[in-house]
Amino acid sequence: CGIVGIVGSEPVAGRLVDALKRLEYRGYDSAGVATLEHGAISRRRAEGKLGNLAQKLAFEPLEGRIGIGHTRWATHGAPTERNAHPHATDRVAIVHNGIIENFRDLLADLAKDGYLPQTQTDTESVALWVTRELARGADPELAVARTLKQLKGAFALAFLFRDHDGLLIAARHGAPLAIGYGTTEMYLGSDAMALAPFTSRLTYLEDGDWAVITRDGVTIRDGRDAIVQREQQVSQASA
Ligand code: GLU
Repeated sequence: CGIVGIVGSEPVAGRLVDALKRLEYRGYDSAGVATLEHGAISRRRAEGKLGNLAQKLAFEPLEGRIGIGHTRWATHGAPTERNAHPHATDRVAIVHNGIIENFRDLLADLAKDGYLPQTQTDTESVALWVTRELARGADPELAVARTLKQLKGAFALAFLFRDHDGLLIAARHGAPLAIGYGTTEMYLGSDAMALAPFTSRLTYLEDGDWAVITRDGVTIRDGRDAIVQREQQVSQASA
């Protein structure tokens, strides 16, 4: 039930797990991280406590400098490793909090083009939809913009793309999400608590907003895709 992300200048996997620990209070049944390893999406996921995920990472480390992390509270699909986030195709990895109400309709449409789910989750429909948009030639921003218009429900989402090692995209629709500003890095988290070890400067996305995050900063768009300015705050949460 938590999301974190780092567009970093140093390896991120360990820091993603530490940030997820700060979201443990929300409850969860499984957890995972994805990073880019030489441009390719690589994941580690585990049932149960974050310690299990940390142990996997100790045996099979990830070195990527950009990544996303998730603690899951299952709503659709049992709390297994296979159903744990990030969900990924060869092109995109995503983490999701909340529910995609119309995932069955989305999956039915995707199946016509041969995009078939590997898990029982509502979330995978989003990964597959973005993948189809990318395969049709959309760039990551356009693929996400198109996908968001298809989704019904309350959710927060974060996207990581193959071969884009300086790009995260995040979207807020009924579940909170904050962007954190560093000096050479940018961050993403479900709340200020998660971001406190990294930065106290942050911006909360408003409902319907989506954000394109790079090492240089963030561009925020509203639900109609118009660029908007959101207030930067100084968080009081302590590291
Ligand atoms: N509905 C998604 C799932 O069951 C996300 C759950 C969550 O918010 O952690 O996988």
